[in-house]
Amino acid sequence: MLLHPADFPYFTFANLDRFNTLRHFVTCGNSAETDINLRSVGGAANRRRLAQTIGFEIDRLVTGEQTHSLNIAVVTSADVGRGSVDIDSRIPCTDALITNRRGLCLMVLTADCVPVLLYDPTTHSAAAIHAGWRGTANDIVGLSVKKMADEFGTKPENLMAAIGPCIGTCCFEVGDDVARHFSHWPDTILRHANWPKPHIDLVLANRLQLELAGVQASNIESSDECTKCGPHRLFSHRRNQTLGRIGTGIMLI
Ligand SMILES: [Zn+2]
Repeated sequence: MLLHPADFPYFTFANLDRFNTLRHFVTCGNSAETDINLRSVGGAANRRRLAQTIGFEIDRLVTGEQTHSLNIAVVTSADVGRGSVDIDSRIPCTDALITNRRGLCLMVLTADCVPVLLYDPTTHSAAAIHAGWRGTANDIVGLSVKKMADEFGTKPENLMAAIGPCIGTCCFEVGDDVARHFSHWPDTILRHANWPKPHIDLVLANRLQLELAGVQASNIESSDECTKCGPHRLFSHRRNQTLGRIGTGIMLI
């Protein structure tokens, strides 16, 4: 990821920066000097700052309720502004947003979970996905690729994918209740190494699922930064039970 040190700092991915047909971002930081929390309650002013920095109208922003579901919403012009600065109008019980409409900014919120962006330059369509461990275990990224194929005619091999910062293998220690959902995965994903309890590599899991869905490995970029212990001290639920949220968004232009 590349850091853009604007008044409202954000990251972008090199593989998506290549396209002038979209805008995208991953917001950063929860240090005192970069208090840019985008959470649904109390984050409205910061969302307006974000919109100004990235260059879109705040009423073009769309968010979902995010309930660790596998529900994928096809976002149309009728949804414009839903959940932009309030919680009541969010698209209910939805963890992935896809669209082929220009000028709608799809955004997911995370604080340790995995944010994933997809872009298909051929059909000019995009997705913003919230993959927690449940969504990861149940392949929400693969389901989103399939949904884009069904709705927009996307060919997976044309997709560009960006996996944003999440809790790293270093810090994602899990109990047996979570580990059992990954017991059939390779030991590169459910890792025991020298730890007393198993750890899960959520980035690798999502990368593998994207590849299984037909996305080319060379088209997948991922952040290596752990939200909990990484250098930018990104919002991390595990580190400080924060209500802070990173926003990861994409807009077709
Ligand atoms: Zn870590």
